[in-house]
Amino acid sequence: MVMDLPEDLTLPLERGAPWWYWLGGRPALDFTNTLRERWRRRVETLVTVEDLGEWLVAADLLSTPPVVSDALLVRARELREAIDAGVTAVLAGRPVPDAALTVIAREVPAAVAGEEAVRADDGSVVLRAADPVDPVAHALGLIARDAARMFGADETVRVRVCASATCSARFFDRSPAAGRRWCSSRGCGNVEKARRHRRRQREKTA
Ligand SMILES: [Zn+2]
Repeated sequence: MVMDLPEDLTLPLERGAPWWYWLGGRPALDFTNTLRERWRRRVETLVTVEDLGEWLVAADLLSTPPVVSDALLVRARELREAIDAGVTAVLAGRPVPDAALTVIAREVPAAVAGEEAVRADDGSVVLRAADPVDPVAHALGLIARDAARMFGADETVRVRVCASATCSARFFDRSPAAGRRWCSSRGCGNVEKARRHRRRQREKTA
């Protein structure tokens, strides 16, 4: 399982789904990872409004693909880049920038789902979660809420970027010792170990 994108990718992509990547460990980071290879080609995988709708379902934030407007796709990408600006800052030991926090904070209120009172089969009244008025805004709210939690003092120390030289994946390090270096030990971890091994072999024969 190699995490790197192929060299001969035709860009911009027509659709992003084949290149989605689910090793972030939480919605906020899986979301930032929809802009891939940030260090080089900056490959956009939320290409179309359908992409965003399908991604939100694949991420388990919505149960059915919603209708997404162009404006919401713009807003989603804006939220994603705000989260990533926060990631970049905390990795450099700085606080989340004000501008990023403003964008994240704007989306958080929609994370709260409303309730509705309905009659149950036995005639009694039940209170249950109502469908969100705007499912896409709600899903973005859930991502923003996750980002806000992640930037809290306890969790922010576990935000990582993969140590592989050719991968820019962000991930959340849940390992007990908080010492994880790669987005995937079987992917990037192995590639990196093989690289080091080859380097050592070359040095030996040189
Ligand atoms: Zn990686």
